[in-house]
Amino acid sequence: MEECLFCKIIKGEIPSTKIYEDENVYAFKDIEPVAPVHILVVPKKHISSLNEIKEEDEILIGKIHIAITKIAKELGIDKDGYRVINNCGKDAGQTVMHLHFHIVAGVNMGEKLI
Ligand code: AMP
Ligand code: ZN
Repeated sequence: MEECLFCKIIKGEIPSTKIYEDENVYAFKDIEPVAPVHILVVPKKHISSLNEIKEEDEILIGKIHIAITKIAKELGIDKDGYRVINNCGKDAGQTVMHLHFHIVAGVNMGEKLI
């Protein structure tokens, strides 16, 4: 049984500001927002990074993205747009080893990726 930070948040053992939840997905506010809207979307299943997804996770990855669209509509950022970011591994700056997608919005981020 995994006991990483985000597993504890999903179980409610560490507090978070919940934005969305369904059978497979949990979303909450990032504790150090980099933009007016900064949400983390995670699978309830512990997967340490995008590197570790398996064929069996194909549907789950789709469900995460469907959840992202629901959250975007709910927060009203679907019209102006938003950025979805996955940091995978050291060079990308992944600090929590539980697969997560950042939704960043509420500011014009321009055309440059980094
Ligand atoms: P990453 O660098 O892609 O691994 O992103 C990890 C993110 O988790 C960072 O943006 C952190 O601010 C965020 N974070 C770390 N601890 C917490 C927490 N307890 N609640 C909410 N967000 C957190
Ligand atoms: Zn975990």
